[in-house]
Order: sequence, then structure tokens, then C-alpha cells
Amino acid sequence: MAANIPELFGSKVFNDAEMKKRLPKDVYRAFLKTIDEGVPLSRDLANVLSHAMKDWAMEQGATHFTHWFQPMTGITAEKHDAFLSPEPGGSVLMTFSGKELIKGEPDASSFPSGGLRATFEARGYTAWDPTSYAFVKDDTLCIPTAFCSYSGESLDKKTPLLRSMQALEKQTLRILRLFGDDTVRHATPMVGSEQEYFLVDEDLYKKRPDLIYTGRTLFGSKPPKGQEMDDHYFGSLKPRVSAFMKELEEELWKLGIAAKTRHNEVAPGQFELAPVFSTTNISTDHNQLTMEMMKRVASRHHMVCLLHEKPFAGVNGSGKHNNWSISTDAGDNLFQPSSTPSRNAQFLLFLTAVITAVDEYQDLLRLAIASAGNDHRLGANEAPPAIMSIFLGDELMDVVDSIIHNTDYQDKERTYLSIGADVLPNIRKDSTDRNRTSPIAFTGNKFEFRSVGSSASIAGCNIVINTIVADALSTFASRLEDADNFQIALDALIREELTKHQRILFNGNGYSDEWVKEAARRGLSNLPSTVEALPHFVTDKVFSLFARHQVYNRTEIVAHYEILLENYYKTIHIEAMTLADMVEKEILFASSRYQDILANVVLHKKALDLSADLERARLEHANSLSSEIAKELYSLKEKLSAVESETDSLTAARFYRKEIVPCMDIMRTQIDELESFLPSELWPYPTYKALLFSLEGEPRK
Ligand code: ADP
Ligand code: MG
Repeated sequence: MAANIPELFGSKVFNDAEMKKRLPKDVYRAFLKTIDEGVPLSRDLANVLSHAMKDWAMEQGATHFTHWFQPMTGITAEKHDAFLSPEPGGSVLMTFSGKELIKGEPDASSFPSGGLRATFEARGYTAWDPTSYAFVKDDTLCIPTAFCSYSGESLDKKTPLLRSMQALEKQTLRILRLFGDDTVRHATPMVGSEQEYFLVDEDLYKKRPDLIYTGRTLFGSKPPKGQEMDDHYFGSLKPRVSAFMKELEEELWKLGIAAKTRHNEVAPGQFELAPVFSTTNISTDHNQLTMEMMKRVASRHHMVCLLHEKPFAGVNGSGKHNNWSISTDAGDNLFQPSSTPSRNAQFLLFLTAVITAVDEYQDLLRLAIASAGNDHRLGANEAPPAIMSIFLGDELMDVVDSIIHNTDYQDKERTYLSIGADVLPNIRKDSTDRNRTSPIAFTGNKFEFRSVGSSASIAGCNIVINTIVADALSTFASRLEDADNFQIALDALIREELTKHQRILFNGNGYSDEWVKEAARRGLSNLPSTVEALPHFVTDKVFSLFARHQVYNRTEIVAHYEILLENYYKTIHIEAMTLADMVEKEILFASSRYQDILANVVLHKKALDLSADLERARLEHANSLSSEIAKELYSLKEKLSAVESETDSLTAARFYRKEIVPCMDIMRTQIDELESFLPSELWPYPTYKALLFSLEGEPRK
């Protein structure tokens, strides 16, 4: 039966409608005021709220509550407490106090803090973010929270994200005031994040320790068919996949997540889900929930959802496209080109701010999407390169050119574009015309940041985008506020900034080698891997940027940097250990078995006076492949033990990148050759052929 979307939607969420229904009018109004003004919730208000929330949650079958938060690792964390409190006489009351709603004190000692907790307080606390609704998941009331140390340092992704949204709002309002808008009170960055993922059959998955421990295949020879026919993209959905998607969407709708678009992606077994955009912090929460639900629902269908950026070599990896814009409480999208000249001047100023910001902070943006997983994807022919650039499309590029050169704007009717006097040409929003090779594409009324990895929290990149754009707007505002003649100053500012930062604009093919060379000529930064990117986080320029906008203090940045480095090399460490184990326990053994069979055939044939040249040649090949693999394995192990005692994270990360990764790459080539050479029945693992084309057949539940 088809789902009743309006009935399902938000049914597991304590949303505005539910609050309105259940709270006394004055409490409800006081709550809205609190949110609007961004002031802390009073204890009295919290008590009434928590009571209503508990009653609602219990009607949804909840027995527990949890402060749901996003530690710096990028996943979500929860610790469940039952609502119960014992009564004298052996009975229990179901309780949930305002205090429990507002603040939690999880034993946070095992969350990564990059040394923060040692420096400050041993414990951390979680605090409700009332701008994101509470919801029921798994019979538990989940309260979206921020996670801080007792001295107030953020230990999570939500806190800096909320701060960056505030910073952007503040600077945006300054600009809007300059354009004479005295009524707008809020300006909010909006995000829609498209999520790519793979599905594989659960039985096959369980036979691949590399998938289990690392989320990706560490080897696997190319299947006879990959994505070269382009027959999977937008193709019809297989019944197993379709059943999964339907159930996933229903689960997401219940949680108030507006899952809207679903389709096959380019690689076999790869798919995409896109929700309708929302405010950045809600989108971030929703994306975390979406990833969790994808995994959960997949397992109900005897499949596993792979969110790794590059689960399979040789076919496309997975990303997450972060569509970003700014909306005001008057309902305007500030990146919507308009038909009135004054609005256009404003649009051009906001556009210029993004161009300035991206050019000025290329490295920061690059490192915001850096991870061991994304290193396999960026620049790998199906994802944007590690070089940041902006695609504007032909129409806007012409506009920018005419502004820079102060030349005639070549439109049919008019010949000269004057900012704030002329209207802009029609900016096409046609998706077929889009440049899909650009890391940052202006797509008509928003920017699509395509470099984000599929497993990453979108908080990371949005903290950076919000802050760097806030910074550009702040510089612009200061200059314009001081100007004698706003119109003249605005004109000059836009022209100057576009001229200075035009090198970041690129409409061509971002996947081409020519672009890499051209970008170098333009002086654009190219940081090929996480290790090269991360040190750009801990520079004076970045410290002062985040301090200026009160998003991160220096200590938080250093802590975050440490965690990112650690994450990086620990990920590679686990991969190397997994590979070593698979080689030692299964792969070399499989080769020996084959050699044993071949040796026997050679002996028997010899006894019968038959030629055994073929078997002998195969035997020698298997033998030499095995020795090569074994040699590389020992070298890998030596390197792993050499780096074990390294205490400096950056040195360790560099070593993993320079020594361990190439060693694993060599082994991969050797193993792939062995796999393609060994009889199928002797190969101990499901092949790419099986894994990538495993979703045939009827839905299983
Ligand atoms: P495509 O794959 O063609 O880029 P999709 O429809 O898959 O497009 O995804 C586009 C995403 O952009 C959706 O999540 C959509 O809600 C979001 N989006 C649309 N308008 C805006 C906007 N103004 N600000 C932020 N996100 C937006
Ligand atoms: Mg899409």
C-alpha cells in the first residue's frame, strides 16, 4: 500500500504543531520567543516543556531519553536513560525533568577531545539545541544537543556550526541594512545535502573483512563490466533496492526529514537520496539521521549500506553535494538574481562575497573536506580535484567579465551593465547545462559544493563556508558603512574584489590535466591529500579568522586538528592491519593451494610422459606472485612497527601517507593480479563482480 505521506511526516517528531497542541498558550509563546531571541531557556519553561515532551514520547512508545550529540569524530552519540524514577513502596514514576531536558552530563571521557579535556575539565556536558526538534527513534526520545567542556570549549560539531550561523547572520544583516532593509531580522544559511551510497548484499559483505573493518575493499580485480555502459545512472530501480528505498523514505518522513529525490547513481550498486533543503543545523542533524537510517533499513533488507567515499576502485566513489544559500525571514533567497536593479546590486555583492571568501580561504575549504576516505575520491576522475574553484555558468561569467573590465555587457538589448542600475540577464537554472566537474558550482540560486565526502558530517564544511562568507561580508560592510557615496563605493568594491579574486572562477572541465596546470599558473592551491591539507588549519590566518567571528578559539582549533590527524592515520592503520591479516590468513594460503594442485598435475603428467609446460608456467607465476606479495607484506609490517612509537600526530600522519599507503597500493596491484589468475573456487573472497552486481532478485525481508 502506498504511504500516506502527510500522515507519516513528522509523526515521530515533537515539532511545532505538536508543541502548539500540547503546551499552554503562554508557555508555547514564551518558547517561541526564546528561540527567536536565542536566549537560554528558563527552568520553569523547561519543566513544562519536558513534561509535555515526555507524555508525547511515551505515546510514541518511548521508554528512554537521550541527549543526541555529534562528537568531533563526525558520527552521532547517545546514552540512554529510562524515564523511570523509583517510588517508595516499590513502584516507579515515569519522569523527565526540565533539568534533564536542558542539560546532560555524559561520561565523555572516551570521546576524542584532541587533548581539550586534559587541559580543561575532565567532564563535558550536553545542552539542548531547541532550534532542532526532539524526536523518537528506537523507542527513545532523542534530544538534539551541543556538547561542551565545562569551561565552554566545544567538543562537538554542532556548537561551532551554530556559532558560524550566527556569525553569518550578523554580517548579512549589516549588509542588508546598507541596502535600506530595516525589517529583516534573521538571515539563515540553508542547506540541502544530496547523499550518495552503495548497497551490497549482506551475505557477501560478511565474507569481506575489509568491508567490515574499513568500509571499503582493499583489493578486488576489475569485473568484466563496470560503469562503462552508463546503463545504471537514472536506470529503473531493482525490486530489492526499490523496497529498501520505500522503507527508508517512510522512516525518514516519520522523523520529519523531507526525503524527496531517489535514483540510481553512476556506478553499479550506487544510489542517491536528496532531501528538501532546510536550515543548516537541521540539515546537518537530518543528514546524520539519514546515514544512520540507511544502514539500519538496509540491514532489514539483508543488505549493507556503504557510506565510504570509495568502496570500490575503478568505479565512481560517493560524495555528498552540499547545496548552500542564505534565506531571510522575509522569505528571500539572497542568491536569487532578481529583475529589479537594486536587488541585483545586492545579489552581486553577495555573489562577490562568496568569490572573495573561496579564493581567500581555498586551503581551509579544502581541509574541511579532507579525510583518508575522501583522498581516494578527489581528483580520481569522477570527483572534483583537490583544487578549489567556482563555476558561474556563461551568463554570470559574462556579467563578471564586464564588471571587471568595465566594458560593455554583450546582451541583445543593452550594451552596458551598471551595477544597481541595470537588470541582470536571465540566469539559466537548467540542470542539464550544469558543469558537474566543478567543486563549487553556482546553480541558479545556490552554490553546490561537490567535494564533500559521503561519510562526512556536513557540519565541517558548513562551519567553514558560513565563516569565510561572514568574513568577506564583514569586510565589505565596514568599507561600505564608511563610504560617503554608497552607490559609488559599492560599484568600486565589487569591481575591485572581482578583479582581485577572478582566478578562482573556472567554467571549464575540472577533471582535466590542463586545469591542474592552469590552476598552478593562476597560483591556486592544490593540496592533493589530507596530510598536505590539514596543517593549513593551524595557521595564524585561520586562528584569527575564527576568533574574529567567535566560531572557534585557538584551543578548539588545535584540538580539532589533532583529532583530524589522528583519525587520518588511525584509519590507514586499520586498513593496513586488515590487509596484512587477509593476506597472511587467506590470500597466500589460497595461492599455495593452487600451487599444490598445479605441482601435483605437473608430477602426474611427468609420470605419464605428458607435457606439463602450461601447468609449470602457471605454477611459477603463482609462486612468484606469492613471493612478491609476501615481500611487500613484511615490508608493510616493518613499517607499521616502526611508526608505532611515533608520538607526534603530524609526523605519524605523514609517515602513513608516504610509506604505508604506497605499500598498500603495490600490494593491491599484486593481489588483483593473483585474483584474476586463481580459479574462482580457490579465491577466498567475494569478487567485485559479485559485490557490484549482487542486488538482483526479489526483495528479501
Ligand atoms: P541535482 O542532483 O540536480 O543537483 P537534486 O534535486 O538532487 O539536484 O538536489 C538539489 C538539492 O539542493 C536538494 O536538496 C534541494 O532541496 C537543494 N536546494 C534547492 N534550492 C536550494 C536553496 N535555495 N538552498 C539550499 N539548497 C537548495
Ligand atoms: Mg542530485
